[in-house]
Amino acid sequence: MKSYKYVNHLWDDAKAASLDQAGRLVYRSNLLGSDQRVTNTGGGNTSSKIMETDPLTGKPVEVLWVKGSGGDLRTSTRENFSSLYQDKLIGMQALYLGRADKGPKSTAEDDMVAMASHATFNLNPRASSIDTPLHSFIPPKFVDHMHPNAIIAIAASAHCEKLTQQIFGGEMAYVKWLRPGFELGLAMQEIVRQNPKVKSIMMGQHGFISWDNDEKACYTYTLDCIEKAAAYIEEKYAAKGGDATVFGGAKYATLAPEKRAALFAGILPWLRGQVSSQKRFIGTVQEDDKILRFVNSKDAARLAELGTSCPDHFLRTKIKPLYVDWNPQAEDLAALKKKLAAGLEAYRKDYAAYYAKCKHPTSPAIRDANPTVVLIPGLGMIAWGKDKSESRVTAEFYNCAVEVMRGAEAIDTYIALPQQEAFDIEYWQLEEAKLKRMPAEKELARQVIIVIGAGSGIGKETAHRISKEGAHVVCVDMKQETADATAKEITDKLGQGIGVAGSGISGCGPAVGLVGNITDRASVRAMLDQVALAYGGFDSIIVTAGVFWPSDTTGHIPDDKWFFTFNVNVTGSYIVGDEAAKTWKEQGLKGQLVLTTSANAVVPKKGSIAYDTSKAAANHLVREMAIELSPLVRVNGVAPATVVQGSAMFPRDRVIGSLAKYNIPYTEDEATDSLVKKLAQFYADRTLTKAPITPADQAEAYFLLVSQRLSKTTGQVITVDGGLHEAFLR
Ligand SMILES: [Zn+2]
Repeated sequence: MKSYKYVNHLWDDAKAASLDQAGRLVYRSNLLGSDQRVTNTGGGNTSSKIMETDPLTGKPVEVLWVKGSGGDLRTSTRENFSSLYQDKLIGMQALYLGRADKGPKSTAEDDMVAMASHATFNLNPRASSIDTPLHSFIPPKFVDHMHPNAIIAIAASAHCEKLTQQIFGGEMAYVKWLRPGFELGLAMQEIVRQNPKVKSIMMGQHGFISWDNDEKACYTYTLDCIEKAAAYIEEKYAAKGGDATVFGGAKYATLAPEKRAALFAGILPWLRGQVSSQKRFIGTVQEDDKILRFVNSKDAARLAELGTSCPDHFLRTKIKPLYVDWNPQAEDLAALKKKLAAGLEAYRKDYAAYYAKCKHPTSPAIRDANPTVVLIPGLGMIAWGKDKSESRVTAEFYNCAVEVMRGAEAIDTYIALPQQEAFDIEYWQLEEAKLKRMPAEKELARQVIIVIGAGSGIGKETAHRISKEGAHVVCVDMKQETADATAKEITDKLGQGIGVAGSGISGCGPAVGLVGNITDRASVRAMLDQVALAYGGFDSIIVTAGVFWPSDTTGHIPDDKWFFTFNVNVTGSYIVGDEAAKTWKEQGLKGQLVLTTSANAVVPKKGSIAYDTSKAAANHLVREMAIELSPLVRVNGVAPATVVQGSAMFPRDRVIGSLAKYNIPYTEDEATDSLVKKLAQFYADRTLTKAPITPADQAEAYFLLVSQRLSKTTGQVITVDGGLHEAFLR
């Protein structure tokens, strides 16, 4: 096997031999998708023409297995592929050619997408992709269509056709930009018909397609093409001066990492508020050398204005990013904010003008006009998406765009897709239909919620509860390990998502673990700044952290334990709310703060004087903070009572102590579970509802208070105590 420098040849003959034909297609797809240099997330597709037994006739029939609509090659399984009768797809050509209204971007062309479902083999429910004709109309059995940065660099060069000939000789043909669909499939079919020696086709402004009648040869040839393109580009790139002179050389210098972190933390929540004027967005920060070389360069402003090239890039990145010409060496945070504000306003106007200029009578209504990619010299890139995964995909795509521009500018001049063509993809009726088919967003979608005390008990339960509703959850605890453990449970359940991007903590998934000590303002601030770097900002905070320090046998509590109790249960909650208020105000988006008090706040008892008094203060803190933080933030409290199960406040010793106190029979060697159950039932019997209270019961109340279901409620405390009449609030 020849050696590769710019891609990895991963094919394993033994593995391939162990799979059936459709399984081998999935295997080939996963291998191709696993390398970002071969294709981007969600981009490209693969196919195999496989002989199957027709369930209707029992006879052999040729079936096209092709990656269906949606999905991603790296993570694809068999379910992501559609299967279609190949002869029926070919037969559709007569149907299409008979249409008087045929032609590129015609209704006839779009109609063929829906017609393809009549060719479904064996009731496969996967909708076929708009690229299906490309795979069907090219005769060989195995076809790969990829979006490699190195190939797109050639595809997005001013002299693409000439360069293709120069680099690949006659074996790679060229087809000019055409929106994917029936016409592109027909054009490719014609190229293959006229020149049987052609092994691949360069697709202008888009990517390439390659094929073979042997599956491994198809895979290998796809890699060969990318290797050849990359080698050509890198040679020219190095000859031109490489990294030192790329994009016209550096105009600004990168700031030191700690300075970048401080500036990002200072700007992100504000920027999130600005771009979330219609719907809230989740941010991803990219600050590696590659992106910094671009944003710092002399050509960044010019190239950014040209926009991205690959059609499936700008559905996420929008027609162009917002580049702000801020001097990181001479200007400060306030100047950056001012320039960003002006830039955002200009961007929205530009976007509206682009829409007005390019729209057709049938075009869908204008969508959110805010940029999804923001480029700042000295700092890096900020990408926005409806959730963390989408936001990482957006960042990944602009990373790809930068790579494409680097390659294109090394060998030629970078050109972007003409605006009208970009518009006709962005506002394509078929894309609109896809958006409309998407399931409704979850109740807490687009929200970032911090749960302090998420390492155990009610906090852990609440973190899980809100993540189920679509919230991004920041799990905060005194110990990094316990915070991480809850975040990992959530991420394992939901998956990391698909985009491959994000620097440091910003590469996180739907949950992240952070340390935080609520009695220390600096620690709280550091935690909130990390949240900004991870997600761009936050919407709500839930504080479940609390301490219970029992009095000694004489009923006395030492002074330091009294202070400690008040410090955590009262001052800590105050510090969190007071410090977070600064960020909430910067962000300017409505939020929720939920504190934890207790039934003990209104029921004086023997043996818990510090705890009970601190919780009484916490009840009033809820009311005071509700006034302080209005109208931006609603502040409420949850007052749980004696949740024994899963509570960090009820270690075995305390359970035994309580059993003894209430004269409940138990034995020293009894399992903790059994002891906990006994105590929980004893407490339950004292309530009106007579059932033990679980962390899940509590989590429901926190969820309600961060949702919009009680959107007119603030300054209130909800009890979840099973009904303790002595604790009724009055
Ligand atoms: Zn494509």
